[in-house]
Amino acid sequence: SPLLEMRNITKVYPNGVVANSNVNFSLVEGEIHAIVGENGAGKSTLMKMIFGMEEPSEGEMLLAGSKMRFRSPQDAIDNGIGMVHQHFMLVPSFTVVQNIVLGMEPTKGGSINYKEAVRMTEELSAKYNLAIDPHAKVENLSVGMKQKVEILKVLIRGAKVLILDEPTAVLTPQETEELFRELKGLKREGHTIVFISHKLKEVKEICDRITIMRSGKTEGVFTTSDMSERD
Ligand code: ADP
Ligand code: ADP
Repeated sequence: SPLLEMRNITKVYPNGVVANSNVNFSLVEGEIHAIVGENGAGKSTLMKMIFGMEEPSEGEMLLAGSKMRFRSPQDAIDNGIGMVHQHFMLVPSFTVVQNIVLGMEPTKGGSINYKEAVRMTEELSAKYNLAIDPHAKVENLSVGMKQKVEILKVLIRGAKVLILDEPTAVLTPQETEELFRELKGLKREGHTIVFISHKLKEVKEICDRITIMRSGKTEGVFTTSDMSERD
């Protein structure tokens, strides 16, 4: 069964806006799955429901076949789902490791201390070829490097599923290439990736499957080879 499944999800905001209408989304373990749609298509709303920041008005969400009802982002993190935000949530004047330990709640896996965070940063940086210096100050890092730190942060929090919100929006073409290489590495190691984007062209390059959203509806799910026959 899919790792994560959203069935006939509808979300109506209190002001009456129908942000998601009968949305179906199915995430298979080990895939890189894009959610593509223009601004206002309902992508963020869908993610907010996964992270317990918004409640579906109708429909159900399943995690590994069981009904899920996350009440907060911490529930999602405890269940191995991590968000890599478009606007980095890092403290510029802190080092990489200080940022990693910052606000780390004791989770299922237990809390981690500073030394452990340094060790894990070095280990994961080497494993995924990220070239992250644990003691570098975040304000001195390039945008691409800050994003790597964000990715590292969710990995250290135990994420098996990484949701990236418009991850290339702030990157140079070279940084984008590097990100794609990293995502392939994460996939090889068994991670599952959701890639939110409004650029069909770039997701075709990296994703196994693509769910298209338009005006709050899912138009269907396509494989990359289906897509090469379309625009
Ligand atoms: P996307 O991420 O694809 O840009 P969103 O999920 O942000 O789409 O938005 C879908 C629709 O819901 C838009 O019309 C947007 O204006 C509306 N919307 C988003 N958040 C809220 C909210 N908190 N209250 C009311 N309407 C919202
Ligand atoms: P974005 O800037 O990516 O659109 P949002 O404003 O939609 O971000 O959501 C940010 C929220 O996510 C914050 O309220 C924050 O508490 C929560 N959050 C923080 N860390 C994580 C995490 N690792 N995974 C999921 N949600 C998180």
